[in-house]
Amino acid sequence: MQPTQINGHRADGGYCLIVAQDLPSLYRLGIVGSSQIARMMHQSAVKLGITPRLFAERYDDSAAQAAPEAVFHHPDSLASFAEDCEVLTFEHERLDMGLLQAMEENGALLRPGTKTLRAAFDKLHQRLILRNRGFNVPAFAQVRGPDDLLDFASAYGFPLVLKSVRAAPPGGRGVWIVEGRSQAMRVLAEHGEQELMAEEHQQIIKEIVVIVVRRPGGNSRCYPIAEVSSQDGIAREIRAPADLGNRLAAEARDLAKRLADDLDAVGVLAVEMFLTTEGLVINELAARPHNAGHFTIEGTPTSQFENHVRAVLDLPLGPTWSLAPAAVTVNVLGTIDGVDPAQHLPDALIIEGAHIHLYGKIPRAGRKLGHVTVLSDDMDQARELARRADAALHGRRPL
Ligand code: ADP
Repeated sequence: MQPTQINGHRADGGYCLIVAQDLPSLYRLGIVGSSQIARMMHQSAVKLGITPRLFAERYDDSAAQAAPEAVFHHPDSLASFAEDCEVLTFEHERLDMGLLQAMEENGALLRPGTKTLRAAFDKLHQRLILRNRGFNVPAFAQVRGPDDLLDFASAYGFPLVLKSVRAAPPGGRGVWIVEGRSQAMRVLAEHGEQELMAEEHQQIIKEIVVIVVRRPGGNSRCYPIAEVSSQDGIAREIRAPADLGNRLAAEARDLAKRLADDLDAVGVLAVEMFLTTEGLVINELAARPHNAGHFTIEGTPTSQFENHVRAVLDLPLGPTWSLAPAAVTVNVLGTIDGVDPAQHLPDALIIEGAHIHLYGKIPRAGRKLGHVTVLSDDMDQARELARRADAALHGRRPL
């Protein structure tokens, strides 16, 4: 095979020369994004002998570090990046829909395509589609100014939830639970330059994520359902399978599969749901591998990352069943004291049974720097060990 040279542009204005092997065109995969999700997608593809190209934002991003053939770019060069790829897939939602639409019309093979991406990128559009198709979502309304907000509050009361319609940047905030009128007005004054929506506050019993992976043509599989515990709006611990009971679990899986079919999803579709006293309510969709699915790396025969790669390349999907009765993932988050978990790696590695993943990111408070997964016969034992490993990575003894 002849090596191919492609010129890649770096965010700092320079460019680098990328050398990649000629691959059968079917396997010329481009990943848009360069954080840990892209890194894990990349690693899964490499395992299959496929070296994806990467549309990286920064040369020191998590995925870019792990992929020397990464393409560093000028912000406007996505279309030219696509010319070197047979299939493009996505790690995040911060993209220009108009550009993606034009690329698709010009023949670029986007997987998932814009029909799915539009629903994932724009929470208002997402709510409208879901409601129109009969899925259960919280009451919502667009907020163009104080009048819309006060109208919504008089119909549904406080607390209510204000959300930015587009995904928040990494580390940024896009959801505010407001208790009363003055707080609502403050959020509006501070964030009103973004497109906002209001949503009825739900009495949440549990938050779950149902991960479906679907091939073009409709063949799909569902992973064990994950249950997420958050702290300060950041997912902290994920347990699989979620403690739901057979009837609700079947209902949640069926909802997610129907949604994936309705949106013609290709690759992973992660459906975040709330279990409320009124039953299951859909919160949010992500058309990419999801943070709540990291347990699938060790906890199932085919990780969400590998199955995403397989699906977007229209290759047979692998099994998604559980390899253990309990899987727990704890996200390793940056703390205000700036501790770098990489410094404490040896302390965590001696905890047998804890699968440690570090993303190579610079520590910052609240930033996801890695995760730990533990499989066990017993959920409490798995949680205990995963927390112990997380504490070790922070140079602490477990609480
Ligand atoms: P993000 O894009 O930050 O993931 P989400 O829409 O998932 O935004 O909201 C983040 C968290 O805020 C949810 O996990 C949930 O705990 C809370 N939340 C969001 N919407 C509602 C709602 N309608 N009612 C109650 N809590 C909500």
